[in-house]
Amino acid sequence: MKILIKNGHVIDPSEGIDGVFDILIDGKKIKAIKPSEGVTGSSDKVIDAKGLYVLPGLVDMHTHLREPGFEHKETIKTGTMAGLRGGFTSVCVMPNTEPVNDNAGITEFILERAMIEGVCSVFPIGAITKGQIGQELSEMDMMRSAGCVSFSDDGMPVSNSMLMRRALEYVKAFDVPIISHSEDLSLSNGGVMNEGLLSQILGLKGIPKAAEETIIFRDIALSELTGGRLHIAHVSTEGSVRIIRDAKNRGVKITSETCPHYFSLTEDAVIGYNTNAKVNPPLRTTKDIEAIKDALKDGTIDVIATDHAPHAMDEKLREFDLAPSGISGLETALPLSLRLVEEGILSLSELVEKMALNPARILGLNKGTLKQGADADIIIIDLKKNFNVNPELFVSKGKNTPFKGWVLRGCPVMTICMGKVWEW
Ligand SMILES: [Zn+2]
Repeated sequence: MKILIKNGHVIDPSEGIDGVFDILIDGKKIKAIKPSEGVTGSSDKVIDAKGLYVLPGLVDMHTHLREPGFEHKETIKTGTMAGLRGGFTSVCVMPNTEPVNDNAGITEFILERAMIEGVCSVFPIGAITKGQIGQELSEMDMMRSAGCVSFSDDGMPVSNSMLMRRALEYVKAFDVPIISHSEDLSLSNGGVMNEGLLSQILGLKGIPKAAEETIIFRDIALSELTGGRLHIAHVSTEGSVRIIRDAKNRGVKITSETCPHYFSLTEDAVIGYNTNAKVNPPLRTTKDIEAIKDALKDGTIDVIATDHAPHAMDEKLREFDLAPSGISGLETALPLSLRLVEEGILSLSELVEKMALNPARILGLNKGTLKQGADADIIIIDLKKNFNVNPELFVSKGKNTPFKGWVLRGCPVMTICMGKVWEW
């Protein structure tokens, strides 16, 4: 089947394209991309994208799908569908399932399920340590061969520095990054929100910013020591930004990400003991938001990821201390991030870099580009269309969002994944 997308404003930073182009899809691949009216030959279907933007499908390098083990929260089927709805044609899935993805058998199981049930591309991230308990390295070479694109003990930081050193040394052999969930557990010490005046007023145990920053320091030092590639997950503080910027200025080859909630919400969202605003690391302050926006602008932060963490309703209804952390983020990430474009912090092309091209490059995926011969992963978005955040309408099983009732501008009207068209 040949599909021609005409008259759309195409943005593809991988080729420096920003203008009205036509794209011809043949089967699962992009056959041609040329300035308007330049594509010749017949097609079975024509999509007129006049007035709309045509972008590479987004790549989320930090997704939690809950299968296997927690299918009441999310499955590969519902999670990948939520991805498509949000404009993501690829999701990289964290290993904290049950069982943990810490061996090639589980990696193969996830990929098999994704082949059968998944509607977008799924790339597993393997655990750094067996069972994610931080005592013994997992069999990374076998997991890499089975299809893992990176390694992380996300949610369960690797506390033992020697083990982290060994992990960074190990991955040099196959040139993938270690993704660091940077948290000093002895400092966060069971805290549930940002430490400060507000946590005192609410009577909730706080997590100091230093809990994140000290481990970022450590992991950068270990990356320098070993030469192993490091990617820092969900940056939330001004101090973290400063540390990463300094390291990058010194030429250390590290990358980092943040998530839409860290530039959209302050800790005030927790007021009223709103468990939907409970995330790890916690929401911070206005100063941190400003620093994160600066870091996105100057390239200190390379990627916007979702940290999509769906939970069942009854779990989030527990009291604040006991509720699990996380936001169901796949379906709100793009419209929230488009606010950065509206504010003039990023151009649309830079946003595509952060949400498609950079994650693909960091993980070595053949995604995030519209060049001829690439997979036909494309989104068509309407920047003028309002997106009313209504969790009841989420495709994800996780309805846990602190953005309920927000009216955002811009959302996908069509997602094309491996040549298959989904209209919204
Ligand atoms: Zn994490």
